[in-house]
Amino acid sequence: GELLAVSVRVAPLGSRLVLVLVEDLTEARRIEAVRRDFVANVSHELKTPVGALSLLSEAVQDASDDPEAVRRFAGRMLIESARLTNLVQEIIELSRVQDDVRLVDAEMVPIDELVAEAMDRCRHQAAAKQITMAAGGIAGLQLYGNRGQLAAALGNLVENAVNYSPARTRVAIAARKVPGAKQDLVEISVTDQGVGISEKDRDRIFERFYRVDPARSRATGGTGLGLSIVKHVAASHGGSVAVWSVEGQGSTFTLRLPAAKNSERTAGVGYDDP
Ligand code: ADP
Repeated sequence: GELLAVSVRVAPLGSRLVLVLVEDLTEARRIEAVRRDFVANVSHELKTPVGALSLLSEAVQDASDDPEAVRRFAGRMLIESARLTNLVQEIIELSRVQDDVRLVDAEMVPIDELVAEAMDRCRHQAAAKQITMAAGGIAGLQLYGNRGQLAAALGNLVENAVNYSPARTRVAIAARKVPGAKQDLVEISVTDQGVGISEKDRDRIFERFYRVDPARSRATGGTGLGLSIVKHVAASHGGSVAVWSVEGQGSTFTLRLPAAKNSERTAGVGYDDP
């Protein structure tokens, strides 16, 4: 079995009775370690753009009599500060979805609106790489949940599909009702023809700050937080996210989410699969 950390407290309750409290500290310790890890990771991730910004400002000072160099450094400062803003936004987003153990502000959300928003979010980048984005089967389908969180989840998946695909490929978004499910569930999948994900990485990509290739991820503005946001959104809606991939050929991420309000559902508790 597993080695447990316990705290034992004994309190006398009279001449012949004692109260013995045995508390399992393993879970508390694990949570504390995860938290400490997260803070260390955040600090480390913040250091990269902050360090670059400080070097670049020095460079600007030194190059004050060379307008062309100043312009170049200023351009790179813009890129680094955009990266910093993105990182801070994702950290805030993640802490928000982690704290919302209970689903708040849930409503019926048309899937075509979420898909349009997700595509808009990376239209520029897709165009630059001549990647075609197409959606099918989404008309008329709805989800029940927090609109902002659902948009963040789908947006991250579509953004990744574009980021981790070579030029002139296709990203396809599809949705369907899950047949035979006990509850009304909808499946949304995002399929790309990109680099794919090896079997050993497939479980780990949902961890905070985990990246298969940190250099590549940073180059595309990735923070390593996107998929952990997706995972938490799925969980807080009582849904799930899964990945299917063939290395060098592409990946499909599938979100399974409630299509309707379910009064018996407790947020955070998974649905029974059909
Ligand atoms: P990032 O900000 O780095 O994209 P994510 O949490 O969104 O962070 O993803 C974690 C890692 O999973 C990425 O760094 C990338 O290596 C891998 N990944 C995510 N989506 C895809 C995809 N569609 N195709 C290939 N690899 C992917």
